[in-house]
Amino acid sequence: MSTTESTAAAAAKASESTSDTELTSVNPATGEVIATHPVADEEAVRAAVAKARSAAATWSGLSFAERKQALLRWASRLVARSDEFCDLIHTENGKPRDDAYLEMMLALEHIAWAAKNAEKVLKPKKVSSGATMSNFSASIEQRPLGVIGVIGPWNYPVYTPNGSLAYALAAGNTVVFKPSEYSTGIGNFVGKAFAEANPELPDGVFTVINGYGATGAALVRSGVDKVAFTGSTATGKKIMAAAADTLTPVLLECGGKDPVIVAEDADIAAAADAVAYGATMNSGQTCAGVERVYVHKSIREPFIAEVTKILSGVHAGSDDKASYGPMTMPSQVDIVRRHIESALADGGTAVLGGVESVKAPYIEPVILVDVDENSDAVAEETFGPTVTIRTVDSVDEAIELANNSKYGLGSAVFSRKRGVEIARRLRVGATSVNSVLGFAAIAALPFGGVGDSGIGRIHGAPGLLEFSSPHSIAVQRFAIPGMALMSYKRTDATMKMLRKMVPFLHGRNK
Ligand code: NAD
Repeated sequence: MSTTESTAAAAAKASESTSDTELTSVNPATGEVIATHPVADEEAVRAAVAKARSAAATWSGLSFAERKQALLRWASRLVARSDEFCDLIHTENGKPRDDAYLEMMLALEHIAWAAKNAEKVLKPKKVSSGATMSNFSASIEQRPLGVIGVIGPWNYPVYTPNGSLAYALAAGNTVVFKPSEYSTGIGNFVGKAFAEANPELPDGVFTVINGYGATGAALVRSGVDKVAFTGSTATGKKIMAAAADTLTPVLLECGGKDPVIVAEDADIAAAADAVAYGATMNSGQTCAGVERVYVHKSIREPFIAEVTKILSGVHAGSDDKASYGPMTMPSQVDIVRRHIESALADGGTAVLGGVESVKAPYIEPVILVDVDENSDAVAEETFGPTVTIRTVDSVDEAIELANNSKYGLGSAVFSRKRGVEIARRLRVGATSVNSVLGFAAIAALPFGGVGDSGIGRIHGAPGLLEFSSPHSIAVQRFAIPGMALMSYKRTDATMKMLRKMVPFLHGRNK
């Protein structure tokens, strides 16, 4: 066995050796065991939710300003421990330390945004009561939902669940967080930092429970007030079905197959640079990473040559010079290999790498051109450092192919003049024009998808509203004599007046 094969085998063996009661966290690059964690069973999950429910009374009773300070202290605590934190992310997830730092930085931006904007977005708002109800004042008050069950993935183990955690907390909810079984230590680090930063708060504002899918399923059944899930579409569908039993609302942030359109007026070098990075960074394990590219025929050759040139200098590894790390989840390696094989079987050509690029736990960059659109490599999420590039005759064709997907998460458009116009025609949750993934780094922009990419939005104002429910309050300030509409005291004179008023208010539109 080669070294890489034995590492992959060790990692797979270590994860197999886990039991129903204990979870073993493994370094994906070396297969070494990092730590073991007790698995929360149904009873432990319910106890965590009960604790969170009792802490919710205190947390939701704080002012926006008090919650803001608690959240900002949490962010500062993560910064204070950032060396240790990034080491742990590197060790448990595999990504380079600098990428770990960037991920942490993005999460901090979101914590700060949620903390500083919650009051503006969620404070009570007066609304017009309308002509026929002018003796009323009307207002909307956004109430916290209560306890939010957050279930996270492993690929961005800090940034991604943070889109639910920080925003749910800022909206006045408490959270019970089940990190992925592949990033358990990282999830616990985040929760512990919150407690360390806020020792005066009751236990239960931010609780972490550990385990596999069964623990996540128990959280869905536990009576939480909303489930905020990030992970694969297949699991998202199971969660939605299970949540239907109790009408528990769900926020689902699922998979993607993000397209990039490179129009004839694109800056070729900039587009190639962004596509090369967006397709392979984090080993391609990015929900909104670049998976398929549609390039205009007039610039096909220079564009493909430039992407190939850039990616020829990009390598997977775990040393300080590596561009990206190992595949975090051993089973993903087989999916990536299968997609490369199907791309080649379905008419595609590898202009860089090929099946031989898969050297588990690492996968070197692979560029596949002219693959049939029905191939799994184009239709299914690959989640590896590969990209398909197809030539199109026109931007219209590119848009049609980009939209012909069950997914609709992120996307990118490269065009000097028509970027926004093309973006508006894409069936997705977000588009970056002349960059990739720009939308994910702007805290005020909501993030989420359509179709199989999910339901609901994290981040920005919609991300705060996701974790609250509107309470409408109508106050009768005085009674108008003869205008008792909702009373058996209503008179014929009132109805006569209404019959004059209604045509005046609503009957004059031509
Ligand atoms: P996954 O679906 O395998 O697991 C996600 C989480 O769900 C884990 O914590 C897992 O333990 C839990 N889980 C599994 N079965 C469950 C069940 N029946 N009930 C409740 N919980 C259950 O996904 P993953 O492999 O961890 O993550 C990769 C996927 O996540 C990719 O598809 C990626 O595109 C997606 N993702 C999406 C976003 C987004 O914002 N849209 C962000 C990051 C990742």
